[in-house]
Amino acid sequence: MLTDYHLHLRTDEAGNAEDAFTNENVDRYLAAAEEQGIAELGVSEHLYRFNESLALWQHSYWQDQAVDDLGAYCEFVRTTPLRLGIEADYIRGAEDRTAALLDAHGFDYVIGSVHYLGDLGAVDDQRYDVWESFPGADSLWGSYFEWQAELARSGLFDIVSHPDLIKIWGKDRPMPERDPRFHYEPFVEAVAESGIAVEVSTAGLRKPVGEIYPSLALAEMFVEAGAEFALSSDAHTPDQVGFGYEQAVEFLADLGVDRICVYEGRERRLEPLGLANADSSSVGRGEGGER
Ligand SMILES: [Zn+2]
Ligand SMILES: [Zn+2]
Repeated sequence: MLTDYHLHLRTDEAGNAEDAFTNENVDRYLAAAEEQGIAELGVSEHLYRFNESLALWQHSYWQDQAVDDLGAYCEFVRTTPLRLGIEADYIRGAEDRTAALLDAHGFDYVIGSVHYLGDLGAVDDQRYDVWESFPGADSLWGSYFEWQAELARSGLFDIVSHPDLIKIWGKDRPMPERDPRFHYEPFVEAVAESGIAVEVSTAGLRKPVGEIYPSLALAEMFVEAGAEFALSSDAHTPDQVGFGYEQAVEFLADLGVDRICVYEGRERRLEPLGLANADSSSVGRGEGGER
């Protein structure tokens, strides 16, 4: 089976929810998935696009972005063949409020992300560049993976997204002087102890770094630690659905990974990794209807 669980129906630009959360738009994503034999598709809109997120954090970017209604989003997605997910930031200190908000909406799965190291800045947004808050790559990488470890241990999330997003800028930023594996270590330990699934994301192929998240070295450590994996493209447009999947499937197969995580009602099961037989595809409309 192939899955694509990390999808956004809205682009990063503001735009209107009315344009994104429509059957026409969903059909474009479903068609793209079907073309590539992706059997399970789920949407995981950013939690910070919704009003309710401001109860968790009041960052100025969130204040600009938080315009949609979370209940309306959930209601809409449940009328489609898509699994209902959400991409929620891990906000240190807001764990209880995050849990309450997530529990109230009956998601199929929750993807946890570290985009910000709190008020120190953003990992992937140069307008709030976190690199300006750290003296060098080693201290930043150390802190970033500590946040990832906390996310894993929080128990709030089913999947940890883009596990080494800190490398996003590639050669535009210095690499740590220490072996990156030193910085990965606490995170890998937290993943092993918590049982959270690790996202293999092809989004990195579209970014300056030009490589899959996680790096090969980090992925090897996850495999050794017995982690399970979820497969996603982090598409923000239909043409990005399943982007780079041949490479991702080969990447996992080379690591000896032969199964991926599938979710429903926040329950996880494992399915064989790879293209399903043509007759077992289940993503299309008319085969399941409303959930
Ligand atoms: Zn993200
Ligand atoms: Zn995303």
